Amino acid sequence: MAWQWKWREPSILIQGAEGFERIEIPVYRSTGGPIFKTLLSSGCRMDCRYCPFAYFCKVRRTAWRPDRLVRVSLQAYREGLVRGLFLSSALYGDPERVSSDIIEVAEQLRRAGYKGYIHLRLMPGTPPGLIRRALELATRVGINLEAPSPSAFQEIAPSKGSWSLDIYSKLLYAARIARDSRRVDTQLVLGASGESDEEVLRLVETLVARGVGIIHFSPYTPVPGTPLAEKRRATPLWRAHQLYEALVLIRDYSFTLRDIEPALTEHGFLPPLRTRLKEYLAQLHPEWFPVDPTTASRRELVRVPGIGPTTANKIMKARSQGELSLELLRKLLGPRWRKVQRYLDLSDLGDN
Ligand code: SF4
Repeated sequence: MAWQWKWREPSILIQGAEGFERIEIPVYRSTGGPIFKTLLSSGCRMDCRYCPFAYFCKVRRTAWRPDRLVRVSLQAYREGLVRGLFLSSALYGDPERVSSDIIEVAEQLRRAGYKGYIHLRLMPGTPPGLIRRALELATRVGINLEAPSPSAFQEIAPSKGSWSLDIYSKLLYAARIARDSRRVDTQLVLGASGESDEEVLRLVETLVARGVGIIHFSPYTPVPGTPLAEKRRATPLWRAHQLYEALVLIRDYSFTLRDIEPALTEHGFLPPLRTRLKEYLAQLHPEWFPVDPTTASRRELVRVPGIGPTTANKIMKARSQGELSLELLRKLLGPRWRKVQRYLDLSDLGDN
């Protein structure tokens, strides 16, 4: 199904103490399908310098009663409107209490027999016991890093706790417990702290190595009335797209920051590219090619533009079974063959 929208507000009918009530719910189109994405509360005591929910911003504040949120989530799921719930919150109270309230919603949902996707965003400083419980209940659990270093975080979120102790170490703890890098995620507000791509990628490399596989790059957008709006311009979407490509290369293709470094400008940014990052890197690393598919390692194979992890695995399997031939390679690559062959040394497969 081709989705044409990012956000929608379908309405559902729920039964309360005083009869039926129709309410609209925010539904976000994620890659896996529509998600009911909401905040437990948008009331906040914090002063994050980019955020429309900071205590000094004049916005309408809303909050869910947990039992009502549970009923609405169940109903939306049963009607097939969503495949799951993403639940976060502003910091309306002590972070431990807010995380605890978020987890309570997941508890109630599971107790009611809900089998759908649950993604919980925990607060900085959530104690280990609550992180463990969240992972028992939810499909995915995360804590937002917001910025790539303690100093950058201090600049944009001065009261939200210690980047190192309350967020980074908790995130790594969650990754250790989860033992599945797709179950733990985090988010950076890209461009809010003036950080370079190099700083972001250094963090990405470490997070991936420590088991955090999902990293969201939320491009910074100045919000009128927030302190940072005067200081920083909006981050272009293409920057986030290129960093997502870099994340995939590091996580799924075994690229290192060192492999990507030649693409960075002297100020540590990826320039806006006309090609995919992987193709650009192939141009910058002529020493990587040609690759001999009869002897190349998996890492060498996936560096070839047009060969991904799945194809590399198929090539290696065919090779180990003594079945790799020019014909099979062409078949495996299909329409990619024309592009890929110029990166390959096919002499051992009889192509001279
Ligand atoms: S704690 Fe969260 S909701 Fe509150 S101001 Fe900071 S980013 Fe915004």
